[in-house]
Amino acid sequence: MALVAGRRRSAGAGAGIAHPERHYGGDPRLNRGDRPRDRPCPVPSRGGPLKASPAEQARLLDLQAIDQTLAHLEHRRRSLPEVAELADLAAQQQSVRSELVVAQTEASDIAREQDKLESDIDQVRQRMTRDQQRLDSGAITSAKDLESLQHEVGSLHKRQRDLEDVELEVMERLEEAEKKTTALGAEQSRLADAVEETERRRVAAHAAIDKDVEFAQRQRATVLPDIGQELLAYYEKLRSQLDGIAVVSIKQRRCDGCRLDLSATDVDRIRAAAEDEIIRCEECRRIQVRTAESGL
Ligand SMILES: [Zn+2]
Repeated sequence: MALVAGRRRSAGAGAGIAHPERHYGGDPRLNRGDRPRDRPCPVPSRGGPLKASPAEQARLLDLQAIDQTLAHLEHRRRSLPEVAELADLAAQQQSVRSELVVAQTEASDIAREQDKLESDIDQVRQRMTRDQQRLDSGAITSAKDLESLQHEVGSLHKRQRDLEDVELEVMERLEEAEKKTTALGAEQSRLADAVEETERRRVAAHAAIDKDVEFAQRQRATVLPDIGQELLAYYEKLRSQLDGIAVVSIKQRRCDGCRLDLSATDVDRIRAAAEDEIIRCEECRRIQVRTAESGL
């Protein structure tokens, strides 16, 4: 067990309430070595040191517990798994949207290519029909012209076959591109369903948290009237300086804030203090409330 400035650090420190070191960070005034030891810390007030009856101090402890609950609820709201899931789904939607634009552009480019081929094939067919009609009409008598026309018909046939082969290949590509577009469209609706379902779960989780928050706030409202305005303001100020925890109890001669055992001097000082005196921890600076379990 390490000795820290004459105090024993208790085993299990850090469980529950925040570790003391966290609160010393960056604030030289709070460094153990620099701070005068075992000096009473009067709580400032306009009309002399701030006092509070044991009952009022106990209520302050209740208020702190409720505020801790509220802080945990807000943390839970921020860290709901659904929030991360929705962010992930949104990223997937974005990526599928971009892929779909690319696939659709590709499909329409190929479709245009196919249209062009079909019109080329059509022209070849028309010309072949025209040539064939001329051949069949018997109007051409010159052997040379006949041969030339027959040669042209042969070339047109070949041209048609070539174009049809290309068209076949283009049609296959178009089919692939359309398949891809359809698959991406299906992925898009699957993602939309997932978003809807996750959003429903998020809303339900929020509603459950809202209910707990409402309950805690109702409790808070019943505690507030039992605490004086000046003490309340002091509590809020301390809370903003000490990671949200301004008031702790002393449990079995140990501060429930920094989890350090009280020194003999601390015990003497606290025992000597009037019951309505507000005591603060020499280590973590929090208000220490004496309870039946304080062991004093
Ligand atoms: Zn402490």
